[in-house]
Amino acid sequence: MTAKPAVLITGASTGIGAVYAERFAKRGHDLVLVARDRARMQALAERLRREDGVSVDVLQADLTVADELARVEARLRDDARIGVLVNNAGASAAGGFLDQSPDTVAGLISLNVTALTRLASAVAPRFAAAGEGAIVNIGSVVGLAPEYGLAVYGATKAFVLFLTQGLDLELGPKGVYVQAVLPAATRTEIWERSGRDLNAMVGVMEADELVDAALVGFDRRETVTIPPLPDAGQWSAFDAARQVMIPNFAQDHAAQRYREAA
Ligand code: NAP
Repeated sequence: MTAKPAVLITGASTGIGAVYAERFAKRGHDLVLVARDRARMQALAERLRREDGVSVDVLQADLTVADELARVEARLRDDARIGVLVNNAGASAAGGFLDQSPDTVAGLISLNVTALTRLASAVAPRFAAAGEGAIVNIGSVVGLAPEYGLAVYGATKAFVLFLTQGLDLELGPKGVYVQAVLPAATRTEIWERSGRDLNAMVGVMEADELVDAALVGFDRRETVTIPPLPDAGQWSAFDAARQVMIPNFAQDHAAQRYREAA
């Protein structure tokens, strides 16, 4: 791997992914941009080549289509210049669970869970063998809060958080850095794409600010970065409460409250 590894970013045609591309280009990293809209990626690539003098490849792929996803997996597996994967491509869907069809919810899982996990799986063995590399997974605060009313989208993002924490435990000791970034409402096209009105909301962050904060977390090697959360101690307390339960899970018998009722 070179001193400045190339960065493969999914969902790089717009929104948070496009800002990641700009920021990594400014830092002097070559890029591989992945999304469906080739024209938008080519326009971004041309600008970044011109402004930052980096090499930018465009890899058009619909990550919900098996053979297109396989091409991205192969690139991650085989291209030893790539040392950072930003697993950013993601989508939401209009309405609640009762409004969404089985195909709609399966589509969300296919992009937000299956593609993200397959891409991490494709690259992790190479990173672990090299003893370096980074995987950035874009989750969401929605994955912490069923109260937002986005059951399937939130469940996919809870998966992203759990996967990141699990990979951090397994790959961290092998020199691979894994980060989950949990944005809250951020001004991008995802809202319009999923039939929601961002203008009716308060507390909306610009994508530039979100990514700049996420990159501070990246540079600090945080496992979980929640850019909008004012008090980091709240996340630490939440995570500590979870860990307190762990020694209590292995029991020969059901808890007293269930034995009494049986
Ligand atoms: P966005 O503006 O809608 O961008 C989504 C990106 O993913 C686009 O580049 C899109 O490009 C790509 N994409 C969508 N479907 C794809 C597919 N089937 N195959 C390949 N690429 C696909 O959304 P964003 O807000 O930047 O979202 C980026 C990430 O942040 C997502 O994981 C999202 O869940 C997460 N997030 C966003 C917010 C927010 O409020 N914006 C909050 C929390 C988390 P093409 O259309 O060209 O394929």
